[in-house]
Amino acid sequence: MSTTPTRQDFDQYMMPNYAPQSVIPVRGEGSRLWDQDGREYIDFAAGIAVNALGHCHPALVNALESQGETLWHLSNVFTNEPALKLAKSLVERTFADKVFLCSSGGEANEAALKLARRYAVDHHGEHKDKIISFYQSFHGRTFFTVSVGGQPKYSQGFGPVPGGILHADYNDLESVRRLMGDDTCAIVVEPMQGEGGLIPADPDFLQGLRDLCDEHGALLVFDEVQTGVGRTGKLYAYQHYGVTPDILTSAKALGGGFPVGAMLATDEVATSLGLGTHGSTYGGNPLASSVALAALEFIDTPEVLEGVQERHALLREHLERINRKHGVFSDIRGLGLLMGAQMSEAWAGRAKDILPLAIEEGAMALVAGPNVLRLAPSLVIPEADIDEGMARLERAIERLVAQG
Ligand SMILES: *Cc1c(COP(=O)(O)O)cnc(C)c1O
Repeated sequence: MSTTPTRQDFDQYMMPNYAPQSVIPVRGEGSRLWDQDGREYIDFAAGIAVNALGHCHPALVNALESQGETLWHLSNVFTNEPALKLAKSLVERTFADKVFLCSSGGEANEAALKLARRYAVDHHGEHKDKIISFYQSFHGRTFFTVSVGGQPKYSQGFGPVPGGILHADYNDLESVRRLMGDDTCAIVVEPMQGEGGLIPADPDFLQGLRDLCDEHGALLVFDEVQTGVGRTGKLYAYQHYGVTPDILTSAKALGGGFPVGAMLATDEVATSLGLGTHGSTYGGNPLASSVALAALEFIDTPEVLEGVQERHALLREHLERINRKHGVFSDIRGLGLLMGAQMSEAWAGRAKDILPLAIEEGAMALVAGPNVLRLAPSLVIPEADIDEGMARLERAIERLVAQG
């Protein structure tokens, strides 16, 4: 006899590496979700900046259903049409000439790091192995990517960490210059730190990184796993800055909820990912590729991208209005629909306390570290859902303030 799963089943059957909220959503449509009891929520979390077209968007459902009836999987012993179409589409829309497909952001970054190291070996020699990244950055959970990431709590306690990795201060070019040398292989950076607290790069900083890389024969890698695919109001955030990387990674919104990742590079660099150097059984899976192509084509239009900027302005108005009343934020920032509200000093460390209250009020949000409330809704969330969801979020904040 099958019974309905409960939140207690999580504690009984699943490894304790997560602590999910108490409700279990069972259905989604657009920017609304319903839980097991039929309670409805407005979704400002979007699966951590993944469901870029909301839940069950018809364009993605159609792509998945028609591919699901055609061809599911081949492996890379064969290529397939959806993967080829997706790669071509990514190349046509970006600086890149070549694409490696995989299934997640961590995998895309793992591929980028291996490629950067291999390129340095091919062109300069084994000694050129230093990877510079930034404190508070997040690049995934594989051992290489947590080590490159700037949050030691994610890489410590697992034995010896991969070597040759240095960390600098974000938005502080001097701190990078001090670490830079002829042994620098690559700089890895998020154009806006996501998990690290929604901190956009200063334009001079990104341009400075580009110049330092050019001076020292190092590669510039942009991790756009969170900022990519329309999230900031451009297809990729680098397009706001006019600074072009050598390698770019993409995932999250790329599949709109279907697991997919991509690593993009110039021809010159891609040559080093030669035959047999890297691989993935699921990379370029036809189902994933079909959905990603549909997401990419839907999102990369003036209507959707301009709509992101309009929704940004509306969300900002709501956050500012809430703050005028309750004074809980010291800063409201972000690009497009990746927005953060920094908790003021009196509420330091309390961002996560808003989330369960918001759920009780019928809204889902995120945090980025202990001090930042993060909103990353669907790029096509209806304005009425923003208004209603922010009214619910405000009630949650009211209750936090009342509790003290
Ligand atoms: C989420 C994220 C990753 C990791 O992606 P996964 O799909 O969880 O492996 C890497 N980099 C950034 C910037 C992210 O936000």
